[in-house]
Amino acid sequence: MNDRLFSVEGQVVLVSGASRGIGRAIAEGFAQRGARVIITGRELATLEATARAISPGGLARPMVCDVADPAAIERLVAGALAEYGHIDTLVNVAGVNRRMLAERLTEDDYDFVMDINLKGPFLLSVAVGKAMLQRGKGSQINISSLNSDRPLKGVAPYAMSKAAMDHMTRSLAMEWGPRGVRVNAIAPGFVLTDLTRKLWSQPTMQEWGQANTPLVRLGQPEDMVGAAIFLASEASAWMTGQVLFVDGGFSAGLVWPIDFDKQ
Ligand code: NAP
Repeated sequence: MNDRLFSVEGQVVLVSGASRGIGRAIAEGFAQRGARVIITGRELATLEATARAISPGGLARPMVCDVADPAAIERLVAGALAEYGHIDTLVNVAGVNRRMLAERLTEDDYDFVMDINLKGPFLLSVAVGKAMLQRGKGSQINISSLNSDRPLKGVAPYAMSKAAMDHMTRSLAMEWGPRGVRVNAIAPGFVLTDLTRKLWSQPTMQEWGQANTPLVRLGQPEDMVGAAIFLASEASAWMTGQVLFVDGGFSAGLVWPIDFDKQ
């Protein structure tokens, strides 16, 4: 059976923050399945190297866009529509974090995280959403975090931005569902990328992460690909406004240090 249910072949997919990490893996996953992928980030040279690496066949097209710059978002969307005519799927991945206790944060720290993690994705969603609504079709996928549900200590603006992103997902899903545009989110657990590598290189952190993750390992960026393809394809046609936790089971419950063999 040639199953089209999960197909993304021929789609035009825009991925923000695709130069590395989770965004790069998702962009590669789409390109491998025949989608044309617009990859964005802040530096052209990095994006060009990523495009060559993830799609030697030329399906990845670099376009520079700093999501903290509203004018750059407008330029990106206008450029993408001029070149491809439409966008089938938007994946909002670009994100940053500054780990520190709230009383040590400056206003600049707060604005930095909020502008990139929340305001930028909102403006990009709406700019792309307008074109999707005109067409009566489209899927948007926001990369949230397990912090959106229960925050980890010491990342208040990050956790706040991701909680708000989940509500953005639900709000836009309600506004746009009747007009054919679906909006969902993926909340990754602990994934090894540049954003987190230093943290997880500490043995105590690794021990804690594995002990609390039912699937007993940290995530790799590729672990996000399946959920993204699902949310972009017909397989999720009756699904909108949802947050999928892809976290090795971390959010399923609390693990306590009981040795059941010695009960
Ligand atoms: P990463 O490896 O640091 O990659 C971040 C990406 O965002 C890069 O492509 C970077 O591109 C881009 N970016 C950063 N600031 C940008 C800006 N102002 N404008 C445009 N692009 C920008 O991080 P990651 O771990 O893959 O994280 C990706 C997303 O997943 C984030 O939203 C993060 O919150 C979320 N997440 C990650 C984890 C995890 O454990 N890693 C867990 C939950 C959620 P350039 O630097 O080239 O511009």
